Formats: sequence, C-alpha cells, structure tokens
Amino acid sequence: MDIILLGPPGAGKGTQAGRLEDEHGMIQLSTGDMLRAAVKAGTEVGLKAKALMEAGELVPDEVVSGIIGDRLDELGPEQGVIFDGYPRTAAQATALDEILSARGRSLDHVIELVVDEDALVARITGRFTCGKCGEGYHDTFKQPAKEGICDVCGSSEFKRRPDDTEETVRTRMQEYRGKTAPILPIYETRGIVRKVDGMGSMAQVNDEIEAALAL
Ligand code: ADP
Ligand code: ADP
Ligand code: ZN
Repeated sequence: MDIILLGPPGAGKGTQAGRLEDEHGMIQLSTGDMLRAAVKAGTEVGLKAKALMEAGELVPDEVVSGIIGDRLDELGPEQGVIFDGYPRTAAQATALDEILSARGRSLDHVIELVVDEDALVARITGRFTCGKCGEGYHDTFKQPAKEGICDVCGSSEFKRRPDDTEETVRTRMQEYRGKTAPILPIYETRGIVRKVDGMGSMAQVNDEIEAALAL
C-alpha cells in the first residue's frame, strides 16, 4: 500500500507516519527529512535547498522528485510507503504519478489531515526532536517521560529546526495554501482522498487513519 499524508506544516504528518512505520511496517519517505540530511551533508541538493528551507519557501520540484525516485529504487516492490510532505505542488503530483507507474506502483489513499490553522503555530514553535534517533516531541503536547532524556534511545541531546519560528511558519502556511492545497482536487477526482480530523490527540488521529486505511 502506498499512501500520501497531506496537510499543512505542523498538522502531524511526521508523527503519524512514524506510528504507521512502527505498527504496520510501512516506510516513511519525508522529503523534509531527506533535504535536511542533504543540507547537513553539504551535498549539491543540500546547497540548492538550504536558503529556501530557511526562508520557508519550496525547493524546486525537480530536486525533490529526483530524491523521491532515488529512494523508491532502494525499496522492494512489496514495501508500502508513506509520502510525507510530498507532493507539494501540481508538478510534483504529476511527477509522482510517473515515478510510481514506472516502478509498477500506484497510490492507494491520500490522507488529508484537517487542522485548525490557529493551532499550527503552537504545534510548530513547540516542536523538538531527539538528536540521536529523531523521535518527535513537543514542549506542551509530548514531553519525554523523564525530562531531558529521550524515551526511545535515552539520549539527552535534542534539537529544534531553524525554520520552526513563528515568522517562517507564516511563509510555509502561504506556500501550503497557494501551492499544496490546490492539488487535493486531483486526488478527489480519483476518489482516493480520506479526510481525517487532525485536531484530536495523537492516538485519536492514529485510530482515525487506521480506520480510513482499513488497517
Ligand atoms: P508535520 O510533520 O505535519 O509538520 P509533526 O508531526 O512534526 O507535523 O507535528 C508537529 C508538532 O506537533 C510536533 O511537536 C508533534 O509532537 C506535535 N503534534 C503532532 N500531532 C499532534 C496532536 N494530534 N496533538 C498535539 N500535538 C501534536
Ligand atoms: P513541515 O511538514 O513542517 O512543513 P517539512 O519537513 O516537510 O516541514 O519541510 C521543510 C521544508 O523543506 C519546507 O518548508 C521546504 O522548504 C522543504 N521541502 C520539503 N518537502 C518539499 C517538497 N515536496 N517540495 C518543495 N520543498 C520541500
Ligand atoms: Zn532518541
């Protein structure tokens, strides 16, 4: 099963993709994570992406579609994937169709995480992750059980994204509204969009997604 998790920044895509990985053996393909890794490694892709990401603007379509194709080539045909943060433009949606069909794959579902825009700034400015294993946390909504210690790996190193500021969130929201939300009708015409209320607890959202996917 191949699915897209679609929703604005802070909607909970990464959180829910992580749960689907842990509980259902799917693989999360997050273009944001891949781009951050490229920036850190100083690759050509990273050099192209860095300033745009810091400003909250989208990275060029061919860059992200290229890395998605490469990553899919590393996976077996039976491995189900979750696209997290991709596609984000009409051109990426078209590219994804081609990337999938060239590999004998197709999209089964698009989960649209429906969230209250007002909640997103608080979600994003409170977000932090474990520097070692990448587990996601939040200042208010998900603190480690023992303060300063990652629940998953025991590390005491945490990090925050440089683009998780109130100012950059506004730009990212505009990019979402202007370029990403308009791709939903493409999938609605195909009858594969499942709307999920993203405002419940993380567990409730997970339950709703599992119900929508009949897992
Ligand atoms: P996205 O990948 O869509 O940008 P994340 O999954 O990183 O969003 O979530 C953004 C922040 O909000 C994280 O700190 C996460 O812990 C928190 N979060 C995610 N889902 C929920 C939820 N249902 N309720 C409260 N906080 C949430
Ligand atoms: P969030 O889900 O919190 O918005 P991501 O980690 O998905 O954040 O993306 C962070 C940044 O990486 C984006 O603001 C953008 O600059 C870049 N990016 C990630 N995915 C894409 C994509 N599919 N197309 C263009 N830019 C992307
Ligand atoms: Zn950890």
